[in-house]
Amino acid sequence: MTESLATVAYLGAAILFILSLGGLSHPETARRGNLLGMLGMGLAVLVTVFGPRVSSSGVVAIVIALVLGGGIGLYAAKRVKMTQMPELVALMHSLVGLAACLVGFASYVDTSHPLQGAERAIHAGEVYIGILIGAVTFSGSLVAFGKLNGRIGGKPLLLPGRHLLNLLGLVVVVALGCWFVQTASLGLGMLALLVMTAIALLFGVHMVMAIGGADMPVVVSMLNSYSGWAAAATGFMLGNDLLIVTGALVGSSGAILSYIMCQAMNRSFISVIAGGFGSGAPAGQAGAAPQGEVVAISAAETAELLREAKRVVIVPGYGMAVAQAQHTVNEITRTLRERGVEVRFAIHPVAGRMPGHMNVLLAEAKLPYDIVLEMDEINDDFPDTDVAMVIGANDIVNPGAQDDPSSPIAGMPVLEVWKARQSIVMKRSMATGYAGVDNPLFYKDNNRMLFGDAKQMLDEVLATLKSGA
Ligand code: NDP
Repeated sequence: MTESLATVAYLGAAILFILSLGGLSHPETARRGNLLGMLGMGLAVLVTVFGPRVSSSGVVAIVIALVLGGGIGLYAAKRVKMTQMPELVALMHSLVGLAACLVGFASYVDTSHPLQGAERAIHAGEVYIGILIGAVTFSGSLVAFGKLNGRIGGKPLLLPGRHLLNLLGLVVVVALGCWFVQTASLGLGMLALLVMTAIALLFGVHMVMAIGGADMPVVVSMLNSYSGWAAAATGFMLGNDLLIVTGALVGSSGAILSYIMCQAMNRSFISVIAGGFGSGAPAGQAGAAPQGEVVAISAAETAELLREAKRVVIVPGYGMAVAQAQHTVNEITRTLRERGVEVRFAIHPVAGRMPGHMNVLLAEAKLPYDIVLEMDEINDDFPDTDVAMVIGANDIVNPGAQDDPSSPIAGMPVLEVWKARQSIVMKRSMATGYAGVDNPLFYKDNNRMLFGDAKQMLDEVLATLKSGA
């Protein structure tokens, strides 16, 4: 394959990636967006492997690596549950960071294309920055992986003088970088790279450890952005235009997503990075003691309330994903709509454990998109709602975020389900959500608790609804 043909194919792949991102912006076009992205990636891999820069012996090694890596990827994708997806994504980001580091070191010791003067300094700069971003992404993503799967607690680690420590690390890294691009000694240069890598790894760990449970959505999208910049840096090191374009696309879309997440949580990006928000226990743990009496309700009584209602709003959360209750939710929605009940869904921007988590589940269950509304579109409608049914959600419906300034999630916008005539919260126990804070909603006079696994409870609700048909 000639160099010019490869360039044209790379351009085609870049266009496919841009179209893919455009498609992913709406649930109705997301499937097509995914397909275009896969096509673009397939084209990119083929052109790279069989392109002008890879020798025939290199092709064999790459194909072996592809089969091995692809096999592991396929196995992981088949085994991983939907609720473990955020962890898998965090792990994937760490691999992008690791790859950037390895390419950086290999590129530094590779003397097959000796460079001189300004070219040498620019290449050294690319190597240094590539390894720096790669190392922060690698260690930060590993800690995020641990926090998302609960192996590392959600409580932020707040070292004394942590901002000073970070600043000191930054000063050392910048000074070393200035010296590194000028030095001609391979040995001393390698030493500088190793010291910088160690500082960057520690910075990545420290940065994510300092972030509290409730800020994790921003961290996940931020690391997504870092992994893009790490890939772009790798593109510069290897002189691969497609990798630069793709990395920049991922980097900038991740940055935009982080901004949207920050807005959704009423947080500034700087205060997220500074850490300390949402210092409770991780999901499933009884972090705070219950603050009052709750009134329980049965599945049959819930069905009765739904049957009598005119307007119902369903608020899905992480527990619906755990219970895999989305198909039963769809059945219940259909049954109620056939009876003339208006049913709509309220989606909080950080519901679940990854951006768009609930939209994906509801789309999988084939719920009509036009009844699935974002928080801003539906929050004012709760006073006119007869029943607000909360399925496995907790933090996103916590009134404490609005009226308790001392709450760790104070200021985070929430779905105001307590303003409905009746709210019903479906969960297994009084345990806290991801942010580890107690929820005053549970004790409100117009709230009822339906205790049990969401799928099991909804199956019972559906059976009652159908038997009364
Ligand atoms: P929460 O984690 O606040 O609450 C989920 C609730 O679901 C729990 O209280 C749990 O209670 C219940 N639950 C778990 N399993 C089941 C089950 N099988 N059946 C019924 N209920 C179940 O989830 P939300 O969606 O309300 O909020 C998301 C939280 O996650 C926010 O704090 C957000 O910041 C954070 N986060 C979001 C990310 C994102 O990108 N969306 C990424 C990382 C974190 P019980 O154990 O009693 O059943």
